[in-house]
Parts: sequence; C-alpha cells; structure tokens
Amino acid sequence: MPFKYGEVEIIWLGHAAFMISHRGNIIYMDPFNIQPKGRADIILVSHEHFDHLSLEDIRKVIKPETYLIAPENCRDKLRLLKTGVIRLVKPGDIAEVKGVRIEAVPAYNVNKFRAPGVVYHPKEEGSVGYILELDGVRIYHAGDTDFIPEMRSLKVDIALVPVSGTFVMTAEEAAEAVNVFKPKIAIPMHYGAIVGSRADAERFKELAKVEVVILEKE
Ligand code: ZN
Ligand code: ZN
Repeated sequence: MPFKYGEVEIIWLGHAAFMISHRGNIIYMDPFNIQPKGRADIILVSHEHFDHLSLEDIRKVIKPETYLIAPENCRDKLRLLKTGVIRLVKPGDIAEVKGVRIEAVPAYNVNKFRAPGVVYHPKEEGSVGYILELDGVRIYHAGDTDFIPEMRSLKVDIALVPVSGTFVMTAEEAAEAVNVFKPKIAIPMHYGAIVGSRADAERFKELAKVEVVILEKE
C-alpha cells in the first residue's frame, strides 16, 4: 500500500529506493534491487555508490524521454547508459522538470570513517540529497549523509532519512535531525539491505518527536 499525502503517493522499494507518483508523474529515487512499478518520468540518483546508482535497476524503468538527475560523481558510470536525458547537478542546483521542482542539497559524512580521518562520503565529492516539490508538497530524500548543519534550516513536509548507521546517520542521529528540522512526516530508510534492520527504524520512531511512518517494502 502506498503512503498517501494529499495527491502524492510514496512507495518504499527497499534500502534508499522510492517511487513517488503525483498526477501521473512517476519519480524513482535511488532504484536498487527494485520490482519496477511502471516507467519513470524522472529518476533521481544521490551518488555513485552501487546501492544508489544501479544501472541494472535504472534500465528496468528508464525510457528515452526520462529525465535522470545525478551528481557529477556519477558521470562515468552514466556514460554506459544509452538512453534518457541526463542532467548532472551539484548541491544547490535547482531543476524544474514536468512541473516538479527539484533541488539538490548537500549530503556527506561528518563522523562515519572508512579510515582514520577519511569519511565514507566526503563533502568534496559533491553527493546530494534532493528536495522535490510537487504542488507545494515538499519531500526530502536525504541521500547518504550524517546530521549536517545544512539540515537545520530544512523546511519540508516529508523527510526520507537513513537510519542504519555505519555509512550514514544512526537511528539516534536521524531522530536528533528530524527533531530539529521538524518535517510533518518522517520515513526511515537505508536499512534491510546492506546495513541496518527494522529495529533501527523502530528505534528511530521511538526517539523522534515528529510523526514517523515505517513503510513496508513493496
Ligand atoms: Zn553511499
Ligand atoms: Zn548507502
């Protein structure tokens, strides 16, 4: 069952993958290991890691006129894609596609290290999250990120936030983040596939002071 917010429908496809539909527009975010549910008008990719930029999954839903938006660090992999309209962005860029306003926002680590002093997602790599605006409804997909200062001023209705820890925010950190920027609804993600489990989503729900909806994978 999709989660409905006004005329917006949100389906969690597992890990960081979502399908959002609104008035016939179909938007996929970070499709990875998905069961396709219709062709994409827009595909948003947060960064180049295999569990976010999956050409195999993109090929399941792309059509020649699909707009695919991704940060610069996806350029090389996306060259292998022979279809779609590709637009590369950096944090701060805004695109308007089929009546949907799409803003790329920063996503990076501050305290998740792969080696001493080296984080998994360095800010310089320019990976992104997105804020989508559909008829005034603002949906934030955080990407792979920690609780970063830029989140403090977010104004969004729905926030899709990672909770697994290791490469991204823990459940505790994600709760701290939403308790600061206060979306109307928060939906936990980035668990159940590579790292993290439903228990992280439940802990996030306990700690968050905003409404949390835990979606079933479809
Ligand atoms: Zn990543
Ligand atoms: Zn990830």
